[in-house]
Amino acid sequence: MEGYAATRRKVATVDLDGDYFVRVKKLNRLEVEQAELALSDNLMRQRVGDGESVEASMKMDSSAYRTRMVAISIVEWNLDGPCEALKCPGNHDRWPVDEAHVRAMDSADFMSVWRQVNALNEGRKPAERLAFRAGGERGGDAGDADVAPEPAPLRA
Ligand SMILES: [Zn+2]
Repeated sequence: MEGYAATRRKVATVDLDGDYFVRVKKLNRLEVEQAELALSDNLMRQRVGDGESVEASMKMDSSAYRTRMVAISIVEWNLDGPCEALKCPGNHDRWPVDEAHVRAMDSADFMSVWRQVNALNEGRKPAERLAFRAGGERGGDAGDADVAPEPAPLRA
């Protein structure tokens, strides 16, 4: 019997230029919570900073959140060769799937994969929307348009 969890598992392939692909799975709640820890780190740091550094750390953390979401969603990819950003010794037959190598991706490719991950997991939780707004991300993600502005529930 495959059971409940299997019926919720979806996998999608993102095709990148040059015969590269990234396959990502839909996450379960536990996995999403793991990624959301990147946002709670953020809220803690935010309390110690002054106005300026708050915004900077928010930006970093929504980026950390996306990196983590993408890294834990990847079931397979075929990125290969040297990864210049990380200076790993030699060539990879295939890049290891981890957050460091997700960060080493081309940024446009990363955004393509992120959009798919976001779509698979059906939109954003309030905490994420908050972080995205605070981070000043502009332009582009599908789904932003119908997200109504909310008062920021930032205080713990
Ligand atoms: Zn590497």
